[in-house]
Amino acid sequence: MQNLKSVLWSRKLWRDFRAWMLARVTLFFPVTIWKHWEPLVPTIPMCPFCDQTNVDLEHTCSHETMWPWILMDPLSVQELRAKVQHFGYIMRRVLDL
Ligand SMILES: [Zn+2]
Repeated sequence: MQNLKSVLWSRKLWRDFRAWMLARVTLFFPVTIWKHWEPLVPTIPMCPFCDQTNVDLEHTCSHETMWPWILMDPLSVQELRAKVQHFGYIMRRVLDL
């Protein structure tokens, strides 16, 4: 895979990348990436896509993408970018940003 140091991504995409990395390691919602005063959480009170209460990361991501594909190792920088962008979109819906 291409070296990430040579990739020109926006600040927004790098932030999404940090959130994606944190979610891969913890399987928690990486809330702290956007809201530094808030901890990582295993569940959120309500799903932004279906209004079900007390849902986990798998539930939320499964509405918009394939689980666990979204967090699995990418085979290329292009695939990484797609996953990171998609994950960022989902997390911004979750956090209502
Ligand atoms: Zn849902």
